[in-house]
Amino acid sequence: MSETIYLDHAATTGVHPSVLDAMLPYLGPEYGNPSSTHHLGRAARQAVQDSRERVARVLGCQSSEVIFTSCGTESINLAIKGLAKAQGGTGHLITSAIEHHAALHTAEQLGHEGFDVTVLPVSSDGIVDPDDVRNALRGDTRLISVMYANNEIGTIQPLAEIARIGREAGVSVFSDCVQAAGSLPLDVNLLGVDSLALSGHKFHAPKGIGILYLRAGTQLVPQMQGGSQENGLRAGTENVPYIVGVSVALERAQANRLSYNEHCSRLRDLLLEELCRQLPETHINGHRQLRLANNAHFSFRGVEAQGILMGLDMRGICASSGSACVSASLEPSHVLTAIGVPPEYVYGSIRMSLGESTTEQHVRRVLEVLPPLVTRLQALSPLADLQ
Ligand code: PLP
Repeated sequence: MSETIYLDHAATTGVHPSVLDAMLPYLGPEYGNPSSTHHLGRAARQAVQDSRERVARVLGCQSSEVIFTSCGTESINLAIKGLAKAQGGTGHLITSAIEHHAALHTAEQLGHEGFDVTVLPVSSDGIVDPDDVRNALRGDTRLISVMYANNEIGTIQPLAEIARIGREAGVSVFSDCVQAAGSLPLDVNLLGVDSLALSGHKFHAPKGIGILYLRAGTQLVPQMQGGSQENGLRAGTENVPYIVGVSVALERAQANRLSYNEHCSRLRDLLLEELCRQLPETHINGHRQLRLANNAHFSFRGVEAQGILMGLDMRGICASSGSACVSASLEPSHVLTAIGVPPEYVYGSIRMSLGESTTEQHVRRVLEVLPPLVTRLQALSPLADLQ
């Protein structure tokens, strides 16, 4: 088997050695419960508090505004349900058509529980128009939930502008910032959001740890009953090693983000330019500039992504369709539907998400393998009649 070329960093990343080092004592001898009063408990409590302060420094907030959760999905559920319900049993929510399912399905669930949900469309390059947010506001709007950067096509939303609209209307603004960490600024006062969610495994912390920022004074209904951990907002014994890990990983990712962006965008642009040169019919999805530096998302005509991904995998290259859609027999992803990717292209959509360990050699290898693979599959494809 050839060397693994991992181009699926938007799905997950490996734990960085410095993150693992910081975690190890809390997976070993420092196993106390932060709620215990003895010295082992106090050491664990101190580690959690130090981690909270580390995260707060990165986000430019107070440590009391940082809540640790079990993942991005939990942070998002807690924010959307907890903020919407804090102002009464029903009301109106605004969200976008390209949110991650963690946010979209949560908003839909609130819809089943009596809330009115406005799902805003996006432009053909995947951007929410802030005027649409303004026009959707109602007297009973409880929450605006718009993601910062999209997980499939990498587009970056005008979040600060949307947050300003919310603030002027006195409506809470939450943002799923899971894909933004490590690439975009996360200062909560520059962004102006009331709440944001992060997930450790997207920036070299382990899977199964999330962060929720909640602006002081913002009412939130807890979604789990139990102990009084996390200011009474998220019950459950703290996952001390993972909390330490996520704080160290976030600090590292945000400190390195400019060089990371430069590194990824150079290689991503090389990939896209060469790909379009070799296969001129390649359709690039998402805004060309307003997108994450590491995201390349493109579609090929009349071919299924699954075949391409299997062919790449056989040559050691890990990529993704960027969505749950892996076969023409399934619906295309809601994101690709929302931006209107033409039917003859939509099933042949591939996401390659680069990372800090991606090299020019990796990209050159992909460029050697992918174009002939696509051409061969196009000739054989049952979708050929879509061409
Ligand atoms: N939101 C976005 C934009 C994501 O990309 C993901 C993960 O794929 C999530 C939320 C969910 O995060 P987690 O896997 O930590 O539950």
